[in-house]
Amino acid sequence: MSLLMDEIFAHNEVFIKNKGYEHYCTDKLPNKKLAVISCMDARLIELLPAAMGLRNGDAKLIKNAGGNITNPFGSAMRSLLVCIYEMGVEEIAVVGHHGCGMLNFDSKAVIEKMQARGIPRERLTMLSYCGVNLHNWLSGFACVETSVRDTVNLIKQHPLVPEDVKVHGLLIDPATGSLSRV
Ligand code: ZN
Repeated sequence: MSLLMDEIFAHNEVFIKNKGYEHYCTDKLPNKKLAVISCMDARLIELLPAAMGLRNGDAKLIKNAGGNITNPFGSAMRSLLVCIYEMGVEEIAVVGHHGCGMLNFDSKAVIEKMQARGIPRERLTMLSYCGVNLHNWLSGFACVETSVRDTVNLIKQHPLVPEDVKVHGLLIDPATGSLSRV
């Protein structure tokens, strides 16, 4: 039971009935041959594509906490490789933002909250025995520009990314949508 899900399904029924989807009709290949990796920040849901002039179908949008890639063989990087080899993507934009929640993110506080929510200490200890460094894994970054630069470099230097793919680093203001280059 979830009131929110009831609300979503009620909206969906009206959306379909009114053919709301007609406005978004497109195919799966990104028209601008662009992939964007950015942050999951809720302020960017509509602002980011609007500020970049991207319409439905224009680009592949990959989002996570912080909009960065920390693992060269993680799911974000895999998505980019699919974009390049299967979706015709020729340019990649890494878009960080001011006021990011992952800036100076306190992994210690999150681990304390996990314990307060009932995750037993022994489980955390067991993960560390299995080689999972939770503090490193959960940590954010100290500077958003550096984070964007690091992700741009990781993509450019990735052994499976062809040299002709253009990789750009950008910053967006989550209040005004103003873009700048990193
Ligand atoms: Zn963010």
